[in-house]
Amino acid sequence: MCGIVGVFNHPQASVLTYYALHALQHRGQEASGIVTMYSDDASSKPRFGVYKGEGLVLDVFKDHSLFNSTLRGTAALGHNRYSTTGSASLANIQPFHFNYRHGLFALAHNGNLTNTRSLREQLKDDGAIFQTTTDSEIFLHLIARSKHSTQIERVREAVHTARGAYSLVMLGEKALYAARDPNGFRPLCIGRIRHADGDAYVVASESCALDILSAEYVRDVEHNEILEINERTVQTGEFTSHYIHEAMETSSHCIFEYIYFSRPDSRIFGHNVDKVRRRLGKTLAEESPVPGTEDDKTVVIAVPDSGNTATLGYARVNENVAGPTRYEIGLIRSHYVGRTFIAPGQDSREFKVKTKFNVVRGVLEGRRVVVIDDSIVRGTTSRSLVQLIREAQPREVHLRITSPPVKHPCMYGMDFPSREELVANHHASDEAIGQALGVDSLRYLSVKGMMDAVPSGPGVGYCSACFTGVYPVPIEDGQSKQVTED
Ligand code: SF4
Repeated sequence: MCGIVGVFNHPQASVLTYYALHALQHRGQEASGIVTMYSDDASSKPRFGVYKGEGLVLDVFKDHSLFNSTLRGTAALGHNRYSTTGSASLANIQPFHFNYRHGLFALAHNGNLTNTRSLREQLKDDGAIFQTTTDSEIFLHLIARSKHSTQIERVREAVHTARGAYSLVMLGEKALYAARDPNGFRPLCIGRIRHADGDAYVVASESCALDILSAEYVRDVEHNEILEINERTVQTGEFTSHYIHEAMETSSHCIFEYIYFSRPDSRIFGHNVDKVRRRLGKTLAEESPVPGTEDDKTVVIAVPDSGNTATLGYARVNENVAGPTRYEIGLIRSHYVGRTFIAPGQDSREFKVKTKFNVVRGVLEGRRVVVIDDSIVRGTTSRSLVQLIREAQPREVHLRITSPPVKHPCMYGMDFPSREELVANHHASDEAIGQALGVDSLRYLSVKGMMDAVPSGPGVGYCSACFTGVYPVPIEDGQSKQVTED
């Protein structure tokens, strides 16, 4: 997972990119980078301004003088990196930029390609020298080697050759390009900032990045679309659209973006995440309520922050279908954890959970408590969290999950572990998983319930491979998670 941003035609493009990256911090905390393009005067050649580093956006760009010196220019790209296995090397931090025979070009990628292995080998055989271990670099080589005469055709050829998940922002000397793969796995939206000297345009992974800039949401980049924003767009407000494949396929939006990953205040795939998450919670309550009585109300709490919105939906419907229910804040999350130092001898997992969460004892003690969480992956965090909740001495602890069991790895950019590490593959039943986690009952949302809760419409489909094992784009034999970084 990653967060990406592109800004076009704004005198403070890098400052806008910085704030947008800040809003997208949840999509990647390992590293951050901004690349700008500028010319010192009308007659000089454009140049890159580049600054990247490991860590959170606030830490990487703490020297604010950067924005008027290194990162000047009216166009910029930004990237927050969420690394998976291996290489935390500086070379892997995006955006990537290069100077080739057609001029300057920069690119930032969110997603995971599924034909990385064969493309890398092919490109290496043709003489390409890779500077990074990311699949994203493949786009640069494909663009640089294209024989087409226009930039848009070179971009189109490159994305047409790639398979899998990619949302891209790209910067040429005369235009900003935004593209989403034909399945539309990852979100990408366009915003506009009104300006007397010509409007500025922002492309970002989620609309929360537009909100922080007071940019108006224009629309999503469609799946299968390459959008060009150039001087004509600034003058007329019109985008130029190109298509990757001639025939438009049904989308395969990542359903996990709705369940967990995107911010609840964002609009992705054309819909508000908040509303979808509430529906997931409501459907879960219809499927798996926990009874309460007037004298003994069921207390429903969220695992913050991702479980908050769904919990509101669950509590409301549980009241209707199973009796008196009280929504409470029973877990408090610290937002200042960062990388916690774990002293030798401490159980690191338990300590990590304790540095992140604390219980509100008065809310939980002696009560029948329903804990709402979005998903269970390895189960280790859930087990520690249940232990923590048990320390507040509730009478019963029931765990309700707003997604089905995660049983398969994600090959399209979400950092899930291997099949063997997923707790759902270690137990014969949900009851057995519940016992292992130490709860009185555990229920997951059904696959049908999940599909009913997400928006539908003509041409709208979802990837749910991590739950169902049905992968909408085939995975190349021998594809390794080691070389699919972003
Ligand atoms: S496998 Fe799961 S996490 Fe990965 S794209 Fe599909 S729904 Fe999203």
